[in-house]
Amino acid sequence: MNSIPRRSARYHFDYGRQSRLASQLGGSAIRFGRSVEIAVIDFHTHSAASDGALSARDLIDRAAREGVRRMAITDHDTIAGYLSVCQSVPSGLELISGVELSCQWGRVGIHVVALGFDPAAPVMTRHLESLDKARRERAEKIADRLDRSGMPGALEGAMAVAEGAQIGRPHFARWMVLAGHVESEEMAFKRFLGRGKQGDISMLWPTLGDTVATINAAGGLAVLAHPLDYKMTATRLRALTDAFRDAGGVALEVINGRPRPGDTDTLWRLVRERDLQVSVGSDFHRDSPYGAGLGVEIAQIPEGMGVWERL
Ligand code: AMP
Ligand code: MN
Ligand code: MN
Ligand code: MN
Repeated sequence: MNSIPRRSARYHFDYGRQSRLASQLGGSAIRFGRSVEIAVIDFHTHSAASDGALSARDLIDRAAREGVRRMAITDHDTIAGYLSVCQSVPSGLELISGVELSCQWGRVGIHVVALGFDPAAPVMTRHLESLDKARRERAEKIADRLDRSGMPGALEGAMAVAEGAQIGRPHFARWMVLAGHVESEEMAFKRFLGRGKQGDISMLWPTLGDTVATINAAGGLAVLAHPLDYKMTATRLRALTDAFRDAGGVALEVINGRPRPGDTDTLWRLVRERDLQVSVGSDFHRDSPYGAGLGVEIAQIPEGMGVWERL
């Protein structure tokens, strides 16, 4: 029952495939090679300050032990985890400021990863305060909807699960399991919390444009997180990419967790077509047979393409 899931494997970047793609796209002038020191990085991870299982301390200690050299803790709409450890980072690891910001483009909920910003910049602090408020209001609405579906006490329940973390749908999912309403968190998303369901309330977030502007004003770099997760047509994804770039965004996340075959190729094409850079991350939340382990090997990503070169 309660056995610890097998530690998931680190995603291994198949550069043979990428270099074939690059030459098809006229990338023969690209130079390869990178120092070993920065070969494993991770710019998308979650701690218990949002919906991750590990404390920020345990997360960075583990990343350092597993050979990650540069990373960011990118909790949903909070930098509390980052702030709790940024003064005492294990040697051999470089920790960059990060956060995964919820926003919306039209009616679609979008995630933007911010990297390397000044965590004390008032423009960022204000933005995070407004997200705190939005998340609390959203949690109340989710709880109302669950109440009407015969699940009373969801707000108190989810807040108890969150233990002071930035509240999100995964805390509601966990509570629904604990309260016996569903068998699994996956089922909670499938029935109530997932895209288009009653508990999926996305109209309260700041706009994509304001979000990217905030990141830039705080001296950071904006990365469009997991672009294929929004389930858009190719045309619509291009429009999103253009809106993101026009707002001042610089990179697409070409590796998020364990991409499905072909996904990375699709994203590389878009990156080159729109003259953007790339970012990569495990989106680690916890050990799971489905998710990726910490760290992404980037030794073979062409020079000049990684957003990390500007951090
Ligand atoms: P929120 O930030 O409150 O909108 O919740 C989004 C988070 O819920 C994502 O970052 C995932 O960690 C988690 N999530 C989204 N969809 C699912 C799903 N189908 N099953 C389990 N967790 C999910
Ligand atoms: Mn999450
Ligand atoms: Mn996300
Ligand atoms: Mn994430």
